[in-house]
Amino acid sequence: MPVLVMKFGGTSVATIDRIKRAAKRVGVEVAKGNDVIVIVSAMAGETNKLVGFVNEISPLHDAREYDAIVSSGENVTAGLMALTLQEMDVPARSWQGWQVPVMTTSAHSSARIEEIPTDNILAKFGEGMKVAVVAGFQGASPEGRITTLGRGGSDTTAVAFAAAFEAIRCDIYTDVDGVYTTDPRVTSKARKLDKIAFEEMLELASLGAKVLQTRSVELAMRYKVRLRVLSSFEEQSDDAGTLVCAEEEIMESNVVAGVAFSRDEAKMTLISVADRPGIAAAIFVPLSEAGVNVDMIVQNISEEGRTDMTFSCPTDQVKRAQMAMEDAKASGEINFHDLVADTDVAKVSIVGIGMRSHAGVAAKMFSVLRDEGVNIKVITTSEIKVSVLIDRKYMELAVQALHDAFELDKTA
Ligand code: ADP
Ligand code: ASP
Ligand code: MG
Repeated sequence: MPVLVMKFGGTSVATIDRIKRAAKRVGVEVAKGNDVIVIVSAMAGETNKLVGFVNEISPLHDAREYDAIVSSGENVTAGLMALTLQEMDVPARSWQGWQVPVMTTSAHSSARIEEIPTDNILAKFGEGMKVAVVAGFQGASPEGRITTLGRGGSDTTAVAFAAAFEAIRCDIYTDVDGVYTTDPRVTSKARKLDKIAFEEMLELASLGAKVLQTRSVELAMRYKVRLRVLSSFEEQSDDAGTLVCAEEEIMESNVVAGVAFSRDEAKMTLISVADRPGIAAAIFVPLSEAGVNVDMIVQNISEEGRTDMTFSCPTDQVKRAQMAMEDAKASGEINFHDLVADTDVAKVSIVGIGMRSHAGVAAKMFSVLRDEGVNIKVITTSEIKVSVLIDRKYMELAVQALHDAFELDKTA
């Protein structure tokens, strides 16, 4: 029997009515002759609530207990979905991550899936079970503790199951009807894409488009999973939504495929560090050891043997970065005059594989921002993206202006 993976995100299972609607979609796929693996998220808002409880009790918490707590939202929806399907006379059973078991690394709160044994679930399909409902976002470490895969991790659970079971497709049901040229909440001109290349989706996701977790796109690309994003709120045909696929499958595309943004950025500047060989290592090794995810880096012009070093990191890691730098200063590894944190910044990025063969895309982006009076604080580029750090208050304006200037509302 072909296996199909269907993932329902938080808003798609937010109420009993929505779980029933999702279960009906699953019933349609079962009626077509598929064995279905359903991956569920926690009901909308549940994970945030659980994270809030953890932080209230213990801001610098034990990550193992964080995982034990925040993974629990998915357990509820998995059981509710299995029960709903049983009520519809569809043979279904729920699994928590450890029961499969979804084996992960021990990196609590951002674990990576290492292995998903298929025998257990396949045996049940062999006995007539039609739907395996699996709690997304969670797994088990080699030490036998519950782990979670990072926020948005149910997408990754879904793709990993699709790869392990060689599924015909992995359908990600969410509250939008596909991947858009930018977040449709920021501009009504955002256009739904029928197809997007893995590389572009990977960049968009890692630069802030939370419609798919970055790791899920990485896995889909590596294991050639047919990945589709579609709405759980509308009746869907077989070619609905957006297909994330290999570049070769896309006939025509714009130079810029989409605009992504991230609000949760901070710009940190170390004022007056010694400009000597090894200074970058002396700064960034302790930051990395402290678990700070440094993104952009700029070293300013040096004057009289001293320079300023600027880097960006997620806002919730600012405290950790400050502590790491103060410790490095106290131990004499580095010396700086001051560490200035600017937490009112946002990152805006344009992404497109067409940039490989088109010159002048970055220049056009900078001109658009100049015309809007938006000051650029830091720039980074790669082969298929340009990112800028700007004042957060201009973020929406910048996204809309870039969307207009690159005519993303029109097809190529
Ligand atoms: P789920 O709970 O189903 O996992 P998410 O909230 O994680 O859903 O992701 C869906 C949201 O992603 C949309 O509501 C939309 O606001 C946001 N989003 C950001 N960028 C994009 C984009 N380029 N295309 C579509 N949605 C996007
Ligand atoms: N419930 C988790 C979260 O909110 C995982 C997910 O929804 O993908 O991050
Ligand atoms: Mg999500």
